Formats: sequence, structure tokens, C-alpha cells
Amino acid sequence: MSTNELETLPISRAEFQRQEIFKNVAFESLAGYLLGCKTIFPKPGELLIDPEQPQRRLLVLLDGLMEVQVEAQGGNFTSLIQPGHCAGEMSIFENVKPSAKVFAKENCKILIIDGDTALAMLNASHDLCLNFLQILSNRIRNSNKVVCEEEYHIRCIEENAKVDALTGLHNRRWLEEMYTRELSRSNSGNLHLSAFMLDIDHFKNINDTYGHIVGDQVLIAVAKAILHCLRPTDMPVRYGGEEFTIFLPGTSIENAKIVGERLRSCIEAMKIPLPDKNDCISVTISVGFTERKDGDTVETIIKRADEALYCAKEAGRNRVCVNLGDGAMFLF
Ligand code: GH3
Ligand code: MG
Ligand code: MG
Repeated sequence: MSTNELETLPISRAEFQRQEIFKNVAFESLAGYLLGCKTIFPKPGELLIDPEQPQRRLLVLLDGLMEVQVEAQGGNFTSLIQPGHCAGEMSIFENVKPSAKVFAKENCKILIIDGDTALAMLNASHDLCLNFLQILSNRIRNSNKVVCEEEYHIRCIEENAKVDALTGLHNRRWLEEMYTRELSRSNSGNLHLSAFMLDIDHFKNINDTYGHIVGDQVLIAVAKAILHCLRPTDMPVRYGGEEFTIFLPGTSIENAKIVGERLRSCIEAMKIPLPDKNDCISVTISVGFTERKDGDTVETIIKRADEALYCAKEAGRNRVCVNLGDGAMFLF
């Protein structure tokens, strides 16, 4: 092709050499194909790639800015395409609906290469193929990154939904899933498992006397004390209000009794400072516990622990009571 003819192409040599897709490719080697291409000059907001009207064509951005919009359930994601980069690469290979909308963000100059011409160019130039592969692999790497970040974000939201915001302990939602799993593991392995139900004594009085903020501080302090008394494998939960449940995997009734007494005495000994006052308050808890029996469900084992808690309350509070089943309660 003569120099004069090269000047009639829709893209100049300088523009050609600035494109990542044409890196290391000789301008002359593709000149014949470029002859059949055209440049367009879209205005800001003009839709260039429309998922509703798929077209096999490559858009090489010579000047201006393009915006990619991906519509997803969690909201719209946008990114920008700078001069030297392209869009629509995947449409060359398959005429399916594009996954994103592409708009002109500014006044643009875009080289349009239709699908068949792009395939013919790829056949003609090994370097163009390498550039294409490089662009596609970058796209895959970037979308993998987006998917991983999204997954992580979703997992964080799910985890937060299972945590009680005040005390940082897990909540009932977590209990339902994890206690069921733990109970089934203990049932099938015939392993020890103890269950506790704890309740702060006369907690309403604390709220009524010192206000809800102090009540909240007491709940935080009790939760901290519970964690302090347990092993990392134990499973404390804020069951609701001022009630807590604990599953202790691998813990026999004898050891559970020691833990119950440790919880009770530790909380009784605790001094909780009152805000803005040089004074502290103390609280007590009542504790009910039981051990797993064959055929137990989360509901039945918690119900037995709750019956023992009721018995501890009836006995005057600040007590520990075990439910051995069939109405056999023992106070400590
Ligand atoms: P008992 O010894 O029989 O357990 O008496 P109690 O006063 O502890 O029990 P009651 O069920 O009468 O009162 C529980 C109180 O706990 C009532 C409720 O307002 C309060 N409460 C529940 N959740 C919270 C919370 O998140 N923060 C505060 N400050 N109070 C709470
Ligand atoms: Mg209470
Ligand atoms: Mg209660």
C-alpha cells in the first residue's frame, strides 16, 4: 500500500501504535483490513454496546473516554475505558448478549472493526493474537478479583448478621445453625455435650435504677466474663435480652458443674463501674444446665437447661442447677 493510500485509512500510524491491541504489530501488515473499517465520533451518553442489541464488533478507543456499566443485583458497577484500550473483544468470538453496557463518557473517536474483519486480522498477525489473549486474560483476572471481593463482602455481611451488636457474642441465628451441627456431631459420635442457660438476676431493677445505658454496660460486662470463663471451643450465644446459652462440646455433666459454678462466682465477684460516678455495681446470674441425651434436638436440650434455670431462680437466684431429665433437678 502506498504512503498516499495509508493516509486514507481511518486510523493514523501514530494512533495505531498507541493501541494496546496493536502493540508490536506492523501498521502496514493490517492496512488492508483497516481500509474496510470506519471511525465514529459519538457524543457523551451515546450507547455503544447494548446488551439488548448484540453486535459482533470491536471498539478501539482512539480518543475520549468510555464508561462500562454492569447491572448486578447488588447495584450497578461502573468502570472507565481510557484511550489506547478497547471494548467488545468477546463479541468477536460469539454473538451473545454482552454482559455490560458501554457508553461514550466524553466526545470520543472510536475505530470500529467488525467481527469478521477482526477474525481475519487475528489470522494474519501472530502479535495481534498475543495482544488479544493478553487483553482477555486481564479481563478474566479482573473479573475474578471482583467476584472474590464480592464474595468476601457478602460473607462479612452474613457473619455480621449472626453477631449480636451489643455484646459481640453470636446470636440466635448463629445458634440455630451451629448448635444443630454440633448436636448432630455429638449424637453421631456419642460424645459428651453440655448445654447452659444463664439469666441475669433482677436485671430489670438495674435498668430501672441506673437507666438502659448502664443496663447495656452490664450486658457487655457479663458477656465478657462468660467468654473469660470458657474455652475457645465453647459456644456462647446471647439468646435474647439478658439471657445467654452456651454449648460445651466434649464436656461431661461433672465438668459442666465446675464451669457453671465458675460462671456464677466470676460474675458475682465482678465490679462494673458506673459512668461519671466513683461507684460500681454488681450483678448475679442464675444458671441451669443439662447434658445431651440420645434423641435430643436443640429445642429439647435447651428446654431442659431452661427448666434448670427456672429451678435456680425459684431457689432464690445466684444459684446453679442441673437437670438430669425426668424432672430430676439438683441445686448447687
Ligand atoms: P429475673 O431475676 O427473674 O430474671 O428478673 P429480671 O428483672 O432479670 O427479668 P425480667 O424478664 O423481668 O427483665 C428483663 C429486662 O431486661 C427487661 C428488659 O427491658 C431488659 N432488657 C432486655 N434486653 C435489653 C438490652 O439489650 N439492654 C438493656 N439495657 N436492657 C434489656
Ligand atoms: Mg433476668
Ligand atoms: Mg430473662
